[in-house]
Amino acid sequence: MDGLATCGRRPWLSSVLDRILGMFSVDMGIDLGTCNTLVAVRGRGIVLNEPSVVAVRKGTNKVLVTPEGLAVGWIAKEMLGKTPGTISAIRPLKEGVISDFEITEAMLSYFIRKVNGNRWMVGPRVVISVPGGITEVEKRAVIDSADRAGARRTYLCEQPLAAAIGAGLPWTEPQASMIVDIGGGTSDIAILSLGDIAVCESLRVAGDDLDEAIISHMKKTYNLSIGEQTAERIKIEIGSAAPVKEVDDKTMDVRGRDMISGLPRKTVVTAEEIREALSEPVSAIAEAVTRTLEKAAPELSADLVENGMTIAGGGALLRGIGIVFQNATGLPVKIAEDPLTCVARGTAIFLENIELVKQTLENSLDS
Ligand code: ADP
Ligand code: MG
Repeated sequence: MDGLATCGRRPWLSSVLDRILGMFSVDMGIDLGTCNTLVAVRGRGIVLNEPSVVAVRKGTNKVLVTPEGLAVGWIAKEMLGKTPGTISAIRPLKEGVISDFEITEAMLSYFIRKVNGNRWMVGPRVVISVPGGITEVEKRAVIDSADRAGARRTYLCEQPLAAAIGAGLPWTEPQASMIVDIGGGTSDIAILSLGDIAVCESLRVAGDDLDEAIISHMKKTYNLSIGEQTAERIKIEIGSAAPVKEVDDKTMDVRGRDMISGLPRKTVVTAEEIREALSEPVSAIAEAVTRTLEKAAPELSADLVENGMTIAGGGALLRGIGIVFQNATGLPVKIAEDPLTCVARGTAIFLENIELVKQTLENSLDS
């Protein structure tokens, strides 16, 4: 590391060296999401897409070891279904803050090693995009974790910036563009101009809260207790934020545990009642979108009349979400192409242009 740090003072040498070293490692852009972690590699696209989940033995924070390796990502998720009781699932970034440094580090390190394979002679350059709300201490911890996992250089990229790049917004232009990234734990809203974030807000209301709203609706209306995964399935199958033809007269069978008898039971729910149940968290996100717009300078606002906003993240797939934001703001709304991979693709593009965008970097090993 020392050698490279010295090279950092001579940018041309550093970049030549980096290019040479790059031939022996895989530079990667990592979207460290609250629900899913994705890794994108230049020229290869998305090479890893796994749940941001770690399995630990209940009551400890030691990551389980299985014959297939550490219980992280898909391995963790699969184990949970098979051996409930003794094992618990941890989503270390669930609320957009890092709840457990050790577990986050184990997860990050597992993913980096998995992608870099045997190229351990030289560590990769890594750009990690982290949830908007995390603190400076948490950011430093993420960088340190990546270093310990063998990264040659680690950079952080603000998640809304990565989302905007991935969505193809004109983020470096002297005109405003707006991105709304609705993930699992946080919704990140930002107005960008000239390669930087002008205004942003990170709200802890997102996909998980939509699932929660469905769980509480089922409890209140049917005395039926359902799990998080069932709630997510309902949301994805028949959920909507505004009336849309696609699901309007759809219904769905829902199974759960009767809260009075304690026995398994089935009921039928309609798309309309699910829309109603989702309205509170959906409005909270729409309000945050309006609030962010109110904070923008007049010149930026003026640009947005034409440019409007783009929605990314898994929440962009909720039917009718664009209509809700359009009604709330009067602005044109687009859904990003492949919204779940936007941030990861954006971080990889960011990494490709790292020499150009170094001034916008939040943090690097050289700093
Ligand atoms: P994060 O960046 O926080 O990891 P993602 O952008 O991966 O989050 O989005 C995950 C969220 O998107 C979850 O809450 C998931 O339920 C939700 N989601 C995924 N697909 C859909 C869909 N088709 N409709 C509504 N929500 C969806
Ligand atoms: Mg995300």
